[in-house]
Amino acid sequence: MAVTTVPPSGPTSAPLRIETLKSIAPATGEVVGEVPVHTAAEVQAAVTRARTAAASWGALSFSEREGELVRWRRALAEAADELADLIHRENGKPRLDAMVEVFMALSHLDHAAHRAAKALRPEKVSPGLMANFRATVTYHPLGVIGVIGPWNYPMFTPMGSIAYALAAGNAVVFKPSELTPLVGVKLVELAARSLSIPDVLQVVTGAGPTGAALCKAGVNKLAFTGSTATGKKVMAACSDTLTPVLMELGGKDAMIVAEDADVDAAAEAAVFGALTNTGQACISIERVYVAEAIYDRFVDKVVAEVGKVKVGGDDGHLGAMTSPQQVAIVKDHLEDAVRRGARALTGGADAISGNFIQPTVLVDVTDDMKVMKDETFGPVIPIIKVRTTDEAVRRANESPFGLGSAVFGKQARAVADRIRAGMTSVNSVMSFAAITSLPFGGIGESGFGRIHGDQGIREFARTKATAEQVFNLPLNLMSFKLPKGTTERIRGMIKQLYGSGAVARAKDLLGKLR
Ligand code: NAD
Repeated sequence: MAVTTVPPSGPTSAPLRIETLKSIAPATGEVVGEVPVHTAAEVQAAVTRARTAAASWGALSFSEREGELVRWRRALAEAADELADLIHRENGKPRLDAMVEVFMALSHLDHAAHRAAKALRPEKVSPGLMANFRATVTYHPLGVIGVIGPWNYPMFTPMGSIAYALAAGNAVVFKPSELTPLVGVKLVELAARSLSIPDVLQVVTGAGPTGAALCKAGVNKLAFTGSTATGKKVMAACSDTLTPVLMELGGKDAMIVAEDADVDAAAEAAVFGALTNTGQACISIERVYVAEAIYDRFVDKVVAEVGKVKVGGDDGHLGAMTSPQQVAIVKDHLEDAVRRGARALTGGADAISGNFIQPTVLVDVTDDMKVMKDETFGPVIPIIKVRTTDEAVRRANESPFGLGSAVFGKQARAVADRIRAGMTSVNSVMSFAAITSLPFGGIGESGFGRIHGDQGIREFARTKATAEQVFNLPLNLMSFKLPKGTTERIRGMIKQLYGSGAVARAKDLLGKLR
């Protein structure tokens, strides 16, 4: 990012200072564009406008909102080339990957638009012993949602919050990453042309301070996607106003390859899972635990596959790293690992040229190395030999992160349930992110809350419980006018219903059948 101060123009503008930030293409150094750095007052004004928009947007029927969102989806689809080009230039990823990102983002917008009415339909629930009541759960828009996004998937990642928040009837103020602001600006430009209510989706641009201002601007929920360190700052800022937060944070995803796995398929998947987007995915494979019986074959196959991966150029599999800061982290992790005894079978810290990094396969890694503890977020594949699947599960679960994971082998489905993570792919990698109806999110240092799927829609809704009395019963516990002897009657009911008497036993039996 480059921040420049633009001299104010015009006779009345002397006291104004307009800051802008430049978006620089990491692959070429070209200036892709320039956007304003929005001040706290401007962020506040955007939230105020969003509140007006939210009143009208939230009052639309589900089918009306569906129609509006489908119009936006079509506009984005028509602009797919332009969007992919912006993603490619701002982020540095290959054009193919950028187009896949547009495709995946639109699949979520489409899903959220069509699914909201079902996910948020009122639910009748059993009134239990309050048999004279009708009990319902209804879902309502929260109001204004602040969305703060990262740079690694500048369209796909924020869409996971924006589309679901809009579909649930909220207005959104979006703060894209300072490294990829133009993608955010384009999304909102097309929304403004497609949606009939102004300001339903707005963008504010800038770096950390603009995001911090959004946390303080009175939004009804803040959906944050980014690093764990920044997530903690966002949570602290939101705590002053008890603004609820959704945290989609970093990861250190483990992959487990059991003895009976298809070695070739697992190795190819590991290479893709660790290297796609130059390893800059929150759900990148960052640790691979492999059964000792197949370890040598697996490592050989991974090295062979990595040898076919091309970095840079128009037909490259991997593009530029998005920022020099991230390159420095990857270099530091590689140097730390080698210093502590790891061996780089490909790549290595010396194979870094500017923002381009040749992929590294690391063996002889130990748990004290940075590359095993911290999020590397680069094209590195640490491979660890384990004696048993139990050992692999135990070591996979030792990380404080818990976002995605992957298991390969004949018993992989059962092993998946033992992994402490929000998501697991079985005999594949990253697939959970592409299935629009599956909830996406992590545990521990990877955050909390869910985007995607029905949970992702409900994440942006206020749950309301309604108890409606439909007829009177002789014993009304919500009254001061209870007859004498009620204490004894209630005591009798407690024993009958919850003690060990015949009625309680019958109730337990019914409970088991439920
Ligand atoms: P980051 O934390 O540096 O920045 C994320 C966003 O927060 C940016 O828009 C930034 O401007 C903003 N920000 C910075 N300081 C702020 C503050 N004090 N208050 C409010 N906002 C502030 O993250 P990044 O480097 O852009 O993205 C990479 C990280 O994102 C990785 O850790 C990756 O794992 C994570 N990520 C997670 C998911 C997920 O779904 N779990 C998805 C993509 C990326």
